[in-house]
Amino acid sequence: MTTRKTALVTGSTSGIGLGMARALAAGGHDIMLNGLGDAAQIAALARELADDAGVRVEHHPADMSDPAQVRAMVRDTCERFGRVDVLVNNAGIQHVAPLESFPDDAWHRIIAINLSAAYFASAEALPVMRANGWGRIVNTASVHGLVASIHKAAYVSAKHGIIGLTKVTALESAGSGITCNAICPGFVRTPLVEQQIAARAKQAGIDTEAAVAELLGEKQPSGQFVSVEQIGASVCFLCSPAADQITGTTLAIDGGWTAQ
Ligand code: NAD
Repeated sequence: MTTRKTALVTGSTSGIGLGMARALAAGGHDIMLNGLGDAAQIAALARELADDAGVRVEHHPADMSDPAQVRAMVRDTCERFGRVDVLVNNAGIQHVAPLESFPDDAWHRIIAINLSAAYFASAEALPVMRANGWGRIVNTASVHGLVASIHKAAYVSAKHGIIGLTKVTALESAGSGITCNAICPGFVRTPLVEQQIAARAKQAGIDTEAAVAELLGEKQPSGQFVSVEQIGASVCFLCSPAADQITGTTLAIDGGWTAQ
């Protein structure tokens, strides 16, 4: 009997993380979910994922802005599942404001959740993966890890930072059976982006449809959102034997955004 692999996906109670957890579960991984939300709804989500895929699914409530909780989440996952094979550092938040008036607390929270949490979780998971001789770390960066946009100082800084962290993690684990890569999505229609659509509609006095057309028209040449299923499939690819020699790199899934 082969042992099922365990995947820990941070920020997986919503959006992209949930899409990745669903895809990894469908691929036969036991799943440790993490993220905020209503406890009863999260429990129902975990049951649904487990029933759909026939795997074990639990949820860890660690707050990714607290390093001690991030480290404890990885240790608890190893205790409860006996292993952590795949770590997806995905939790993230956004705040949009000009640099001169960017709130200090928003800066610190974005750096803590979008960047530092990935460092603390990876530092805790790497020794376990090394002992197993196999591991996959996938960091959810963004096109904003590769290029910038105005009014996203903290987000762009954190996402450029996580690509640097990805490269260092890959180099330090090269040849050990562990790989580390970053996924760089363009616009995906999740609650994080709905906020930006709503803000744009309000500011310009236009409806949601017009705001979506403006948002995509400005940045994403395909004119279409990336789907969470497409990102989920990409994570599964990075966890497959075909990707054994892919490490330290970025995978843009952005409808042509960064080709411009
Ligand atoms: P989302 O708001 O739908 O999901 C964010 C997830 O992170 C949720 O599960 C939330 O509970 C969790 N989270 C937030 N703060 C947390 C905290 N302190 N502790 C634990 N969990 C926390 O957003 P999303 O669009 O799915 O974003 C997921 C990742 O994808 C982020 O890193 C984001 O930067 C990145 N991303 C998103 C897009 C996009 O267009 N939506 C594009 C590129 C990259």
